[in-house]
Amino acid sequence: MDKSNFPFKGISSVALHAAGKENAEWAHTPPIYATSTFTFDTAKQGMERFAGIEKENIYSRWGNPTFKVAEQTIAALEAFGLDDGQGRPLQLKALLHASGQAAMTTMLMCNLQAGDKLLSHYSLYGGTYELMHKVLEPNGIKPIIVDMRQIGQVEESILRNKIKLIHIETPANPTIQCVDIEAITALAKQHGIIVTVDNTFATPYLQQPFKFGVDFVFHSTTKFLNGHGTAIGGVLIGKDIEFMKTRAWKWHALLGGNANPFDAFLLSQGMKTLELRMDRHCQNAERVAAFLSESGHISHVNYTGLPSHPDHDLAKRQMLRFGPMLSFELKGGLEAGMRFIDRLKMCVRAVSLGTADSLLSHPASMTHYGVPRDERIRFGITDGLIRMSVGIENIEDILNDLEQAMN
Ligand SMILES: *Cc1c(COP(=O)(O)O)cnc(C)c1O
Repeated sequence: MDKSNFPFKGISSVALHAAGKENAEWAHTPPIYATSTFTFDTAKQGMERFAGIEKENIYSRWGNPTFKVAEQTIAALEAFGLDDGQGRPLQLKALLHASGQAAMTTMLMCNLQAGDKLLSHYSLYGGTYELMHKVLEPNGIKPIIVDMRQIGQVEESILRNKIKLIHIETPANPTIQCVDIEAITALAKQHGIIVTVDNTFATPYLQQPFKFGVDFVFHSTTKFLNGHGTAIGGVLIGKDIEFMKTRAWKWHALLGGNANPFDAFLLSQGMKTLELRMDRHCQNAERVAAFLSESGHISHVNYTGLPSHPDHDLAKRQMLRFGPMLSFELKGGLEAGMRFIDRLKMCVRAVSLGTADSLLSHPASMTHYGVPRDERIRFGITDGLIRMSVGIENIEDILNDLEQAMN
């Protein structure tokens, strides 16, 4: 079935039908190709596959049909409705990895080398922050961290340093700060700087960074793309197809962070319901944010859907909805926060996010434990801050659980 010219009108159709389903046994659900290697009929065929004349599978670290289904789906979701600037549908290529960290490593390493500088925002996923400072920096790649919501700080840093790459994470963990993708990308492009975006919190349903001219998009597929918390995974997506097939693919293969067929299969199942899940996640999060902001027990709520959030207008401009993630501070700080978490009866105490059920965590003692306290506080991660990934349960049950835990 050739769907390349079918004009999909909605993202659920893309999630369900964009990837090729062809397989030798006519299975409706693409099979799990649990195999490390692939066979050749003849030596000549082997040679032609290595030479790239026959574009078939060779070895699963370099690619596997189960990965391909997930990769084609993600590329189609990120490209949905966008054009390449010349009136043609945007073409993207995705490389599936074992984890978000593996995809982040490929993304940064294939674009940077010793002597290069990268610029990023101070509120970042903990693993990204540590990768930049503990792995890249000792190897000669210097991370420069500014408040990227202040465009003047970005400009000043670009003029003062020779920046090779700008990494944006928006909305950012766990304060739900947003960075203006369009403004930063426009500035970066004037200076020939590569732009990468971590789109994990939003998913391509809520935000499509390629619309604003960015070069690469990254996801931890562990989160909302998988949607059920059944597998770790990550993906790197690029619009320079030649670069993706050569340098990015090579770095991916040599660093060895390939996905595995079982996890890729789980990811593909999860993505089928992305739109349905995200709409319910967002609807519930809006209700939770309203409830918390009216509660006498809460001193502060970070949710871009609230007009009081400093990035409310920006989020409205660059996202379809405000997303499923929020954080809040209980009056009484650390002690009250820990007591609240302990008293939850239905919502789950766990780090991570993007599962169908609601998860709550305490960044200061969990995800951001590795970040020095003074820096953490500067990032807005106060001692009593609680992060919530709002699930798709019945909203009354979520609100009742939060309420009983506070009293
Ligand atoms: C989870 C996460 C990562 C890292 O992904 P893993 O799948 O855990 O390796 C990176 N960025 C963001 C925003 C995340 O939430």
